[in-house]
Amino acid sequence: MSDVLNVSEMFGKNVFNDAVMRDRLPKSVYKKLKKTIEDGAELDPSIADVVAHAMKDWAIERGATHYTHWFQPLTGVTAEKHDSFISAPSDGKVIMEFSGKELIKGEPDASSFPSGGLRATFEARGYTVWDCTSPAFLREDAIGVTLCIPTSFCSYKGEALDKKTPLLRSMQAVNEQALRILRLFGNTTAKRVAPSVGAEQEYFLVDREKYLQRKDLIYTGRTLFGAMPPKGQELEDHYFGAIRERIGSYMNDVNKELWKLGVPAKTQHNEVAPAQHELAPIYEGVNQAVDHNQIVMETLKKVAGRHGMACLLHEKPFAGVNGSGKHDNWSLTADDGTNLLNPGDTPHENIQFLLVLACIIKAVDVHADLLRESASVVGNDHRLGANEAPPAIISIFLGEQLEDVIDQLCSTGEATHSKQGGTLKTGVDILPDLDKDATDRNRTSPFAFTGNKFEFRMVGSSDSIASPNTVLNTIVAEAFKEAADILEKAEDFDMAVHDFIKETLAAHKRIIFNGNGYSDEWVAEAERRGLPNIRSMVDAIPALTTDKAVKLFEAFGVFTKAELESRSEVEYENYSKAINIEARTMYDMASKSIIPAVIKYTTQLAASIGAVKGVCQEADVSTQTELLIKTSKLLTEIRTALAHLLEVTEKASAAEGGKVQAVVYHSQVVPAMEALRAPVDQLEMIVDKELWPMPSYGDLIFEV
Ligand code: ADP
Ligand code: MG
Repeated sequence: MSDVLNVSEMFGKNVFNDAVMRDRLPKSVYKKLKKTIEDGAELDPSIADVVAHAMKDWAIERGATHYTHWFQPLTGVTAEKHDSFISAPSDGKVIMEFSGKELIKGEPDASSFPSGGLRATFEARGYTVWDCTSPAFLREDAIGVTLCIPTSFCSYKGEALDKKTPLLRSMQAVNEQALRILRLFGNTTAKRVAPSVGAEQEYFLVDREKYLQRKDLIYTGRTLFGAMPPKGQELEDHYFGAIRERIGSYMNDVNKELWKLGVPAKTQHNEVAPAQHELAPIYEGVNQAVDHNQIVMETLKKVAGRHGMACLLHEKPFAGVNGSGKHDNWSLTADDGTNLLNPGDTPHENIQFLLVLACIIKAVDVHADLLRESASVVGNDHRLGANEAPPAIISIFLGEQLEDVIDQLCSTGEATHSKQGGTLKTGVDILPDLDKDATDRNRTSPFAFTGNKFEFRMVGSSDSIASPNTVLNTIVAEAFKEAADILEKAEDFDMAVHDFIKETLAAHKRIIFNGNGYSDEWVAEAERRGLPNIRSMVDAIPALTTDKAVKLFEAFGVFTKAELESRSEVEYENYSKAINIEARTMYDMASKSIIPAVIKYTTQLAASIGAVKGVCQEADVSTQTELLIKTSKLLTEIRTALAHLLEVTEKASAAEGGKVQAVVYHSQVVPAMEALRAPVDQLEMIVDKELWPMPSYGDLIFEV
């Protein structure tokens, strides 16, 4: 059968991966490159020409005409500028060229990317720098075939202007400190410890024709108006439901595209909300995982177009049904394959694991504000702290088994046993008995231990996972360092490590919470425990520039103070811009399509009343009259709300930039938008469907 899908042949077909490099590079060059990729050695620039040449030949054989440095500026999406391989014509002919210099360094005009004041516009220089640890790949689309080279993006002075550079720095930090922990336990052979990450990606699919009839979706990625359909997600019949043909054929295409690009797409299923789905790849090294998640997002959008659909990555495209997030599964793996977060069967005896766990608990407790900040993106304000999963309070779920071990340690000073899962009995003879996990799941926890990894569930669906992982790596590096500084000097290591674990857990166990994270009781309890409850992006951003944060990031060379300040500036700016666009889109939709439609409806009602009465004085027109009164009243409310929205939006856009401006958008424009939405949504339930100027929620989420 020729049409059988040969996945193993297809996988990585468009990637300049290890196998291709081994095949195409001279042995000495391959070895040097591997040393950088695997051991983190400095890149030897003398090999660049050879690598560039091999890369170019490989790409051209596969139809490439252009190459691009692919980077991740602070806009949150990837950026690229394409150059063709052609040389200057000589005798009217060109050859295809690509030098080591072009591979290693690019110079996009940096002034058009956000820098938060790091760079004045007259100092426009910015460089993209080849990241050889993330393989180059070929993208095939309408433009043709393009060789994409993952790069970092820095200013003339070497300040990070992107998401990748700090991530790479944080990987170095956690590597160095984690190795110290391994050495304490006698591991002398491990050479590297790197974070492993698997990012589960949620998204919505809607019909493209309908999408194009909604300016809010086009301009802002979410609906700014919309009444709930008679059916929402209450039946929970969509979660893990059978995947329909149209969606199935889309997922099939997405998988093929991703596999060709070496992205290990693994699971797919329907999510809780109607029209919501999820894709999860197999976990990889964090740098790859971050790049691959960007590719996943791009691919989801691109392929949707081909199937007559639009993919919505926004955190909250529809009010009233679940929003979308991204679960960032994180663990630490040594080059010998050991997962530092693997508790084994008897965690109470696994002292190295308990030390690692204690350090992570401490890190998350001390820097809960930074973790929360790292998941802040404008759309996520509708999830975190807004009656939706997960809550805005950072807490850790450990599960019964580990919590019990910790209780033993903290109460008696000694942990003597680990609870075991036992056997799952179904009561049906023909079904096999299964070994149960030692711990059930908790879906409400923002930071949950799930067997041999932590799952950080706050990240927004549209956001890059670079920042959360940069923070995680760095805060854990700090906790490891503090542990190693003490334990390396200990005379009696066994005693010292035991005491250290006990003291650390006792000091930080307030962050552990195994109950229902959505309950009001938890909000009150968390407050009693002194845990921060940061409800919005604008409230979260200051965490970036506290003395605590500056000290942390400078100590590990991840960010300078200036870089942190610039990032906080960029985030305030992103916030203000996004809300400004939303407010203006609402204004536009309300005044140009909703109000005219409502007026048409009231005119019809009035005409009906007149016509009926004209024919028959005694006829009852109370229904029409009541509707007319109600509609007119709501119309007046819209007019008032609209005037107010315009006023505060103008005030906000005139405000001084940065934090001041973002606060005005948050505290005045956002409520004004809500006030406009309320009467419009009520009217949508009243006005003749034929007249309503856009597809309804029902049309969008139930008729894909
Ligand atoms: P669930 O969320 O149901 O636990 P999985 O166990 O399949 O789902 O894992 C979800 C994601 O976590 C996947 O991307 C998976 O590859 C990733 N993952 C699994 N083990 C690890 C690990 N040790 N470190 C990091 N990510 C992991
Ligand atoms: Mg998960």
